Amino acid sequence: MRIAVDMTRCQSYAQCAFLAPDVFRFEGEEALVYDPDPSEEFRARIEQSAAACPVQAIRLDGEHRRPAPEASAPTALTATDRVVVVGASLAGLTAVETLRSGGFTGLVTVIGDEPDEPYDRPPLSKQVLLGTAGARGTRLPRASDLDVEWRLGEAATGLDLRARTVLLADGGRVPYDRVLIATGTRARPWPVARDAGLDGVHTLRTADDAERLRARLVARPRRVLVIGGGFTGSEIASACRRLDIPVTLVDRGRAPLARALGDTVADVLADVQREHGVDLRSSTTVTSLRADARGTVTAATFSDGSEVDVDVVVVAIGALRNIEWLSGSGVAVGPLGVDCDASCRALGPDGTVLDDVFVAGDVAAFPHPSGDGRRVSVEHWGNAVSQASVAADNIRTGGQARHDEVPVFWSNQFGHVIKSVGTPEAADSVVIAQGSTARRAFVAVYGTGDRVVGATALDHVKWVEHYRRQIGEGASFPPEGRTVDDPPDAERTVRPRSRITRPDTSAQHSDERTTP
Ligand SMILES: Cc1cc2nc3c(=O)[nH]c(=O)nc-3n(C[C@H](O)[C@H](O)[C@H](O)COP(=O)(O)OP(=O)(O)OC[C@H]3O[C@@H](n4cnc5c(N)ncnc54)[C@H](O)[C@@H]3O)c2cc1C
Ligand code: SF4
Repeated sequence: MRIAVDMTRCQSYAQCAFLAPDVFRFEGEEALVYDPDPSEEFRARIEQSAAACPVQAIRLDGEHRRPAPEASAPTALTATDRVVVVGASLAGLTAVETLRSGGFTGLVTVIGDEPDEPYDRPPLSKQVLLGTAGARGTRLPRASDLDVEWRLGEAATGLDLRARTVLLADGGRVPYDRVLIATGTRARPWPVARDAGLDGVHTLRTADDAERLRARLVARPRRVLVIGGGFTGSEIASACRRLDIPVTLVDRGRAPLARALGDTVADVLADVQREHGVDLRSSTTVTSLRADARGTVTAATFSDGSEVDVDVVVVAIGALRNIEWLSGSGVAVGPLGVDCDASCRALGPDGTVLDDVFVAGDVAAFPHPSGDGRRVSVEHWGNAVSQASVAADNIRTGGQARHDEVPVFWSNQFGHVIKSVGTPEAADSVVIAQGSTARRAFVAVYGTGDRVVGATALDHVKWVEHYRRQIGEGASFPPEGRTVDDPPDAERTVRPRSRITRPDTSAQHSDERTTP
């Protein structure tokens, strides 16, 4: 059977680990890990866990959807209409499930260029690298009665807005009444093409990537070099250390995740990495890779002139949006992805709304919730789910519900869970509001002016929901009130988020999952 835990909801209450310890367990204090592909013999216990989970975070295969009546607005779809989803992954599947549970009974076609049914990517850099799940064992659980025409292993190559048709690589054409663009991102390759193709140089985005990298780790390399200290790079370094493989992580920032989470939190995470034996080279870049006569990578040289011998290099330097297939289609695209409005409707180059074309997930470039005209894209699981749900409801009803959920994301690394809410990357100031950095269990709260705009918890995830509400309510910064869990006074001092200029989010996406 297949399961997935919505880690944006999970509060580490541990009922699941108590009821089904063969499937759910904790690493360190709060980092839940689970088997996404457990044996059928555990089904009853997993069902008990799902029922007991206080935040209903556990999803499993085979649940029946409970359809609501079809919408009756004049612009609502009818049973003779067809929805086409391009991109068969998290956002695409979520949209299909939302369409069906909303009562849509017409034809649904999902086009995906990967041969696999929709699978979950977060376990690829965690359970799969560690060998506790197979690369082909992370298929997303789904309702048994979705009734979908799957066109897998087929790439969309164009969109004809006039003929309302998706064009396929094999020359096929798939007509639609409404279409959802959910083509996500791909790993940004190493910029020197010759070196990117060396044997031993990897990226990590797909199940195939994870399978190849896992095979390298099983072969016990002398050393792995991870280029980029974003979330993915840090998780890969964490997996290497868990497997007792020497690892060097090179990051051009002052500390891993500094751009996403600010200096105060990133400095703690840098210490955590070093304590776990990572050879961390901050404020450093890779200037060249060397290979032997057979084209296998053997060494890397850094900007400080130093060199390391390596057998494996993992390039974790960000992502590129899968937008090329839309070129010339009349849908506005840019480096942040496919432009859409707050209701997930795609825009034309002149900013007009394209009523029958919708966008969701990592590929969507949407208006910043503050309404200040900036565009953002968010490369996180929770955003793909919430945005695809809103898009699907609008597709079905013709309505204009807004996607304005406060973003939440998580990362498991070095036995800790990091959970972040809001927009820490855009804040001016930060304060430790609960716990203590010395204990490696705290909440950092971020402010812009006198408003709370974000929070990051390290092994303190129960606070995340509280701060999500505070952000939504525009609560004042620094947060007031003392708790039993107060940090030492020295840590309660409000500090600048970054000692260097904060990032310009008007031109950058708000995510650092893979961007060093
Ligand atoms: C290794 C890894 C670990 C992660 N861990 C976390 C985590 O811990 N926490 C977190 O919040 N997020 C995490 N994420 C991010 C999360 O997985 C993504 O936000 C999520 O997958 C986005 O879903 P999506 O459906 O929008 O896009 P994607 O998952 O990128 O799917 C897009 C799909 O569209 C397909 N496609 C592209 N072009 C075409 C075309 N022309 N025709 C047909 N199909 C096409 C792609 O091949 C792909 O299958 C992780 C991601 C990775 C890679
Ligand atoms: S919140 Fe749910 S999924 Fe998370 S640990 Fe508790 S029971 Fe398990």
